[in-house]
Amino acid sequence: MAIRDHFKAVYYDPSLEGLPWGRREIERFLPFNPRPKGREELKEEILSLSPDPIGDGKRVLYLAPHRGSLLKPCPGTKGYSCCGYWVGNVAVGCPMDCTYCILQGYLNEPIITLQLPWGKFFDELRAKARGPRPLRVGTGELSDSLVLEPFLGFVAEAVEFFARFEGAVLELKTKTDRVEGLLPLEHASRTVVAWSLNPPKVVEEQERGTAALMARLKAARLCQQRGYPVAFHFDPLLHYSGWESDYQMLIEELFRWIDPRGVIWISLGTLRFPKGLEKIIRQRFPRSWILSGEFLPGEDGKLRYFKPLRIEIYKKVLSWLREYPLKGFIYLCMEREDVWEAVFGFRPGGTRGLKERLESHTEEFLRKW
Ligand code: SF4
Repeated sequence: MAIRDHFKAVYYDPSLEGLPWGRREIERFLPFNPRPKGREELKEEILSLSPDPIGDGKRVLYLAPHRGSLLKPCPGTKGYSCCGYWVGNVAVGCPMDCTYCILQGYLNEPIITLQLPWGKFFDELRAKARGPRPLRVGTGELSDSLVLEPFLGFVAEAVEFFARFEGAVLELKTKTDRVEGLLPLEHASRTVVAWSLNPPKVVEEQERGTAALMARLKAARLCQQRGYPVAFHFDPLLHYSGWESDYQMLIEELFRWIDPRGVIWISLGTLRFPKGLEKIIRQRFPRSWILSGEFLPGEDGKLRYFKPLRIEIYKKVLSWLREYPLKGFIYLCMEREDVWEAVFGFRPGGTRGLKERLESHTEEFLRKW
């Protein structure tokens, strides 16, 4: 997907015209003929005119001043251990289109918004990251960290900022192979480049518009060769007929391309989604098989595979990963303490305990890097 050809329209909030930095942002997008339009009007237009507002909204870029905070703690979920991550929401929305993407139900605007000015993100970081250990910060929660690059130019600025900043480590999480802009940068190992991985069958059938598995692995190898710590997220892990051999082969392929000793962390998370998302998935992707399993609501209202199945999946994936000399921290994303105990033999101590473990691991790993 060439991102320049992807957007069919670029709009901006009219209030940007009254701000010096706002006018500069508009000018940056002049080749796309940006037009002023109120956010509500744009939203109404897409919702009323399009048979698939979520899909069509992915082709509209909206530049808007952001009045709140751009740096936020990951919202986590009640009753499940979160890793104490911070998220930088510079872009909200994603041009790719995965069947299971929770943004389809989570975002109330079917457009891709650039929340400006992104300099605020760096100011907020300077004010927030004053603890004894580096905060882990990512930009891939409400979008994909690299899909709009190098078109946006944010990532080059961010990598260079983090290279000189002791208080935090940046994670760029992606399903693309768009790393060309990263390779020449001075990163001082303070940026982790991370890929979400799934077997080729899942990529082809459930992750529309993303890079093929091999392209992601080749991109990861290039980053590793340029000295970046890399990370991987097996999330969502899907249960289907043949999943075991598919994930086993995926892990074998991963370590054919990647030196396991340079992997800083790996997360595992089985498919989970809020109740309302089911209807959206069935409407938008009637041929998708991801909902064919049995799901039960958890304490946080999200639907998940039932606990014994989740434990079985985690244990098997963990055993395949442990065949390699990994030094990275392997953790479960949004899981219960009893599931941790069944899989790893210990409880991380809730969100606080998991955050401390990950932060001290990060510090240690980077010291030896
Ligand atoms: S790449 Fe991530 S953010 Fe983009 S559609 Fe897929 S799940 Fe959603």
